[in-house]
Amino acid sequence: MSDDFEPETLALHTGIHRSQFNEHSEAMYLTSSFVFESAAQAAARFSGEESGNIYSRFTNPTVTAMQERLAVLEGAEACVATSSGMSAILACVMGLLSAGDHIIASRSLFGATVSLFTNILSRFNIETTFVSATEINQWRSAIKANTKLLFLETPSNPLTEISDIPALAAIAKQANAWLVVDNCFCTPILQKPLELGADLVIHSATKYLDGQGRVLGGAVLGKRDLLMDGGIFSFLRTAGPTLSAFNAWIILKGLETLKIRMDAHSAHALEVARWLEAQPSVARVFYPGLTSHPQYELAKHQQKTGGGIVTFEVKGGKEAAWRVVDNTRMISITANLGDAKSTITHPATTTHGRISQEARDAAGISDGLLRIAIGLESPQDIKADLARGLLP
Ligand SMILES: *Cc1c(COP(=O)(O)O)cnc(C)c1O
Repeated sequence: MSDDFEPETLALHTGIHRSQFNEHSEAMYLTSSFVFESAAQAAARFSGEESGNIYSRFTNPTVTAMQERLAVLEGAEACVATSSGMSAILACVMGLLSAGDHIIASRSLFGATVSLFTNILSRFNIETTFVSATEINQWRSAIKANTKLLFLETPSNPLTEISDIPALAAIAKQANAWLVVDNCFCTPILQKPLELGADLVIHSATKYLDGQGRVLGGAVLGKRDLLMDGGIFSFLRTAGPTLSAFNAWIILKGLETLKIRMDAHSAHALEVARWLEAQPSVARVFYPGLTSHPQYELAKHQQKTGGGIVTFEVKGGKEAAWRVVDNTRMISITANLGDAKSTITHPATTTHGRISQEARDAAGISDGLLRIAIGLESPQDIKADLARGLLP
């Protein structure tokens, strides 16, 4: 496929390798291993002299198809798929870093990423300094001689803070470190971190890439040398958190509708965000597509639309927030996001419930805060479902 095609076209036509049956929809190769024609071929495959599949922990045709499709969308030279978003982050760190190395990470990261950096990597003498997602100077000041990795998510969860990718890429470059961006919220349809200067992109394919909440999966994308020679692929094929062929097939098919879904998620989210902003019982709305967002200009420059996540604070704290949650009839009460179905969560008592009140206050996770991942239902129905629990 030529790169001249638009993303929605590439998402349908990249990574197709038809079998002898000439199927139209991509085949799914559920096999753990592959057969060789001869002892000589087996030897050639194992030595790397001949390319081809050996064992599905290394490579699998369905997984390869999904990797090719996602790579072309992100504008990446290479992609390696993983069993989940977390194993993509783990593969990145294990592939690139060693004991004694230092990470600088945004304070506003997915909870399990914070735990991985804080509780697990620290046991292997990899230390992380957490800094503000938006204060560039904090990143610059945190650089040390052993800093190897800068890690961020933008927009952040749940407050939709925007990190300036080109500015942080410049800091990483100067420090001889890699900038890794978790592009889960935007997907390549809305934001392409590699074009903005990032070295690697991480995905939890569990979210928008699948798009219907069916499977777990992840991916690391970037330059071929960093992924293939840099140790990330080698870590995956040796340690084993690779993507299953079944999950790869689901995600491959999910990518076909990614553009149309992201456009609809964004349009619905903007409509709901604007409506929320006009409600007297809503104290504040956090959505990068609103002109009231403190980083509206940066978001407009860096991402195509505001995306599908809307966070808002109701007046009246936890009681008022729970009232909204408990009065929904259609929106699912679950912490997941990126599904075709809308979901709602109260961060202070769920995703951010285990951190101290002090840390929550510092992070701006107030008791009245609610996060909705806007789905593909009619925006009118989403608004009506929220209105039921909002105080007049
Ligand atoms: C869900 C999520 C992850 C982790 O992905 P899993 O597929 O659940 O392992 C990482 N980053 C972000 C931003 C996420 O939302």
